[in-house]
Amino acid sequence: NEVVSFQNVSKVYNTGTIALSQFDLTITEGEFISFLGPSGCGKSTALRMVAGLSEATSGHVQVFGKTPKEIIQKTNDIAFVFQDANLLPWRTVLDNVLLPLELRGSTKKSHKEYAIEVLEMVGLKDYLYAYPRELSGGMKMRVSIARALAAKPKMLLMDEPFAALDEITRQTLQVDLLNIWQKEKTTILFVTHNVYEAVFLSSRIAVMSSRPGKLSSIINVNLPFP
Ligand code: ADP
Ligand code: ADP
Repeated sequence: NEVVSFQNVSKVYNTGTIALSQFDLTITEGEFISFLGPSGCGKSTALRMVAGLSEATSGHVQVFGKTPKEIIQKTNDIAFVFQDANLLPWRTVLDNVLLPLELRGSTKKSHKEYAIEVLEMVGLKDYLYAYPRELSGGMKMRVSIARALAAKPKMLLMDEPFAALDEITRQTLQVDLLNIWQKEKTTILFVTHNVYEAVFLSSRIAVMSSRPGKLSSIINVNLPFP
């Protein structure tokens, strides 16, 4: 079941920088795929294109069989997690997780229950009413992941989410993310320049080259994959 396809996609920014060049890739439902490559090879550009945040200069991007622009109007299908957790400091952990649901006009009790459930899943059940300033960097990232999951997205896009964390925190979060992926069966697109992280986490790795935006190879990793 194909969820994302890049067909001959190129991206040239108005500065003249070539970020992607004749990029081809198909992503299947339930995969955990990493985009791996050196800084500047176009990983973030590719991810942002899937979310409809950047437009291809030429070629076609399809997400759930639609153009990203059509998809972006149904924002609950896709959730984006950035390196910076971007929590609102004046809201509690639970209220931060509920925010995207509130913005969408859903204030149902069932949503609150589910938000609490995902916060338990990321190990924060004792911090529902804490404020961001009371949390470590790793815990803030956990809140950010919970906030993304609370909307029950079909696809989770993560752009170097653990890059700013220390090695030990990063490893615990990697293990927890794998457990979440296996439990929720969400398709995950994960950008990293860290080879070990890509190998540990992914079912498949799209290795990108520093000849900007070229796919060098696809590596299949032996992970239990639905
Ligand atoms: P990566 O995520 O692999 O580091 P990016 O997709 O962020 O790569 O960037 C690819 C190339 O495009 C880089 O040379 C970067 O400087 C450039 N770039 C990224 N975003 C923009 C932008 N908005 N305007 C101009 N150039 C950009
Ligand atoms: P787009 O042209 O795809 O709409 P934006 O101009 O909105 O992209 O920029 C998106 C991201 O790229 C921002 O995070 C911005 O900081 C970053 N960016 C902008 N210009 C550059 C650049 N020259 N090199 C690298 N990143 C850039």
